[in-house]
Amino acid sequence: MRVIIAGVPGAGKTSIMREVANKTNHEIVNYGSVMLQLALEKGLAKDRDEIRKLPIDIQKDLQREAARKIGEMDNIIVDTHLTIKTPSGYLPGLPVWVLNEIRPDLIVVVEAEPHEIMRRRKSDTSRRRDFETYDDIKEHLSANRYAAFACSVLTGAPVMILTNRDGMLEQAVQKFMEAFR
Ligand code: AMP
Ligand code: MG
Repeated sequence: MRVIIAGVPGAGKTSIMREVANKTNHEIVNYGSVMLQLALEKGLAKDRDEIRKLPIDIQKDLQREAARKIGEMDNIIVDTHLTIKTPSGYLPGLPVWVLNEIRPDLIVVVEAEPHEIMRRRKSDTSRRRDFETYDDIKEHLSANRYAAFACSVLTGAPVMILTNRDGMLEQAVQKFMEAFR
């Protein structure tokens, strides 16, 4: 199966993937890591949080190249984004040419409450997250939902909305794993 898992930064995709890793025979592929590898090779960025500040055309080139690489893999869970907040606005993480490479069977959108997302971002010192207000996060969450259903219509892949509230990680992991049964 080819699964996409996406959500705003701080929704908890990576935490869910950490729990899922030893429960599945699928390979977990971080799209941002594939893009970062390419960006490092080309001397375009030094860390993953610089990628979304690059000129849009360069981001799209890296995105396309990453899609080709990931498209060659099978039995994968791709940890990525439906929308990336750039200085030029929301960049789609899964435009149709990316979907055509990845060919997902399922699109999972991880969500939490905006105040939970704000707190998680503040306590994550490993990343240089951009500051978003409560209303910014609400907007970003709905942009992701619109994008998820657009991807669903284009590919026929169902959308699973996965709520990852504080203290409920185990339940989120369980619901995610049901898709593999
Ligand atoms: P992450 O570690 O998931 O936050 O990903 C790091 C960075 O990679 C993101 O901030 C984006 O700039 C970039 N990225 C990840 N997935 C995509 C995608 N599907 N399309 C474009 N950029 C992406
Ligand atoms: Mg992540």
